[in-house]
Amino acid sequence: MSEQLLPRDRTRPVSVGGVTIGGGAPVVVQSMTCTDTADAEATLKQVRQLAQAGCDIVRVTLPRAEACDSFRTICAQSPVPIVADIHFDYRLAIAAVEAGAAKLRINPGNIGSWERVDAVIDAAGEAGAAIRIGVNAGSLESDIAERSELTLPEKLVMSSLKFVEHFEARGFTDIVLSAKAHSVPTTIETYRALSRELPHVPLHLGVTEAGTLRQGTIKSSVGLGVLLAEGIGDTLRVSLTADPTEEPPVAWGILECLGIRRRGPELVSCPTCGRTQVDLIPIAQEVERRLLSATKPITVAVMGCVVNGPGEASDADVGVACGKGSALLFRHGEVVRKIAEADIVDELMAEIDRL
Ligand code: SF4
Repeated sequence: MSEQLLPRDRTRPVSVGGVTIGGGAPVVVQSMTCTDTADAEATLKQVRQLAQAGCDIVRVTLPRAEACDSFRTICAQSPVPIVADIHFDYRLAIAAVEAGAAKLRINPGNIGSWERVDAVIDAAGEAGAAIRIGVNAGSLESDIAERSELTLPEKLVMSSLKFVEHFEARGFTDIVLSAKAHSVPTTIETYRALSRELPHVPLHLGVTEAGTLRQGTIKSSVGLGVLLAEGIGDTLRVSLTADPTEEPPVAWGILECLGIRRRGPELVSCPTCGRTQVDLIPIAQEVERRLLSATKPITVAVMGCVVNGPGEASDADVGVACGKGSALLFRHGEVVRKIAEADIVDELMAEIDRL
């Protein structure tokens, strides 16, 4: 972990199908499928794509009883633990743990009654499944939502405390907590308060309804990045209005920027300027694209000219410093050879393969 970061809070470890959330375990990356859960084949295909993209666990909605058989198949064949997303119907939550869900995500406020919530808690306890208590600004209980003297973060924290106390009083401690809002300042204030009030409960971070690829990436990076830098958060989901496979790379990018967890190479590339004498932007983009599936924890530099190029390229494991229509290829600080502009990407990737 980077020395600049505050120490990570030590929350209670919760096992989700063998993946540990909290307790000092690596921050867990997750996302959610957008296929019809009744279509097991399509959903499993997307689960595998998400696992390939870096998800440690994947959430799947279970909206109706007819999807239960398919959900069971998905749990049985998934390469990663499956979380069932349940709203309103406590019987679906019970069916989900019986079908193999490693964790449930419920908002206890929309399950109907404490008796029904207790039935879900007991079923999860019996099956060894964890539960995420998912409080959301858009669906707060009316007795809390209507209290105009409270700020939104105060309402989210009040609702969270009530549910956590209830679960723990029933003897169920395999809980992860989220309290999501679409505003970044609200998210930061809420999670800071939760980590103060409930320091032992693992927190699932997310900015909900964060928006499209660009806006959602910015909001999630700022909101979750601030919290993670303060040692808050044990798992995260970046929510984007985009193909779900776009989400894990952003989550990993946030973790890698902060030095919390590393999955693949770091690309250092300059912004280009009037000194650049090669077409650097498509070169850097192609290198980034080809590095997406790489898992070596190396640094790769793509630099436009001799001003900062040789320095950055020699600091990296592999790098290029470009000149007029050509580039010098560096490996561990030594010049390997001069290469033509057209060969930069292929030569760079070949050198990475030789590491
Ligand atoms: S490395 Fe060279 S080309 Fe790139 S921004 Fe700096 S001065 Fe410009």
